[in-house]
Amino acid sequence: MLSTPTQLLRLSQGHLNLLEACPRKFQHTYLEQLNSPSDPEHEEYQALGSRFHLLMQQREMGLPIDSFLQADAQLQSWMSAFANAAPEILTPASNNQIFRESEHYRTLQLQGYLLTVVYDLLIADNQQAQILDWKTYPQPPNPKKLEQNWQTRLYMYVLAETSAYLPANISMTYWFVQSPGKPQNIKFSYNATKHQQIAKKLNQLLSQLTNWLEIYQENELFPQVSENSKTCDYCQFAIRCQRIPANEEKVKNSLPDFANIQEVSL
Ligand code: SF4
Repeated sequence: MLSTPTQLLRLSQGHLNLLEACPRKFQHTYLEQLNSPSDPEHEEYQALGSRFHLLMQQREMGLPIDSFLQADAQLQSWMSAFANAAPEILTPASNNQIFRESEHYRTLQLQGYLLTVVYDLLIADNQQAQILDWKTYPQPPNPKKLEQNWQTRLYMYVLAETSAYLPANISMTYWFVQSPGKPQNIKFSYNATKHQQIAKKLNQLLSQLTNWLEIYQENELFPQVSENSKTCDYCQFAIRCQRIPANEEKVKNSLPDFANIQEVSL
């Protein structure tokens, strides 16, 4: 979590997900910067995901990508599968798109925080705006869970708040380029009701964060989730929180959760 020159705290969807999942985990991760030892398999997936994002960005900017594709069979196979599955995204049929940008960055100030989003690709015309996001982990998550993920909620919320598009004219589509068979997508629509619900939840969460930060200054810890919560089962802070015995930690940390792999924004 970074401070801007005006002292606003910058929050991404990752911060919000963690805060909602377990405030204590947020404290350990972002305030105390406690990190678990790096997992080579996790890092490899993250690097591959970053390379795919970079490739898509270069392509969108009109820069040559052939040499990258020739040097990396995995990227080549993902790109060609994606081009077959979604040709309309890579080569739009009409020129009525008035705006198209990869790695599109937006911010929104709310309470004392600066909410930040980075869209892998934003495509917009006079009426509609589509947010697109590339995922390179193997298995698409449950759509209901994905809809509740703060990436989905925050990305559409911030666009509705910072543009002239009505919520009903905003959508977000995730593309899973490594899905078995061929790339799959999950698309979420948006509307005014969802926008109000998200605004309420977001304001509640930020108010809580403000309170927790205040008491943290007085050496009080952020709250934990309740005992026996499943959230603790795969948490790297389980020993620190005395939620599992030390000998179980090693086993649990050896199982990466691909759905939680952060694909680094470029
Ligand atoms: S072990 Fe449980 S209580 Fe502790 S940080 Fe992790 S999720 Fe939160």
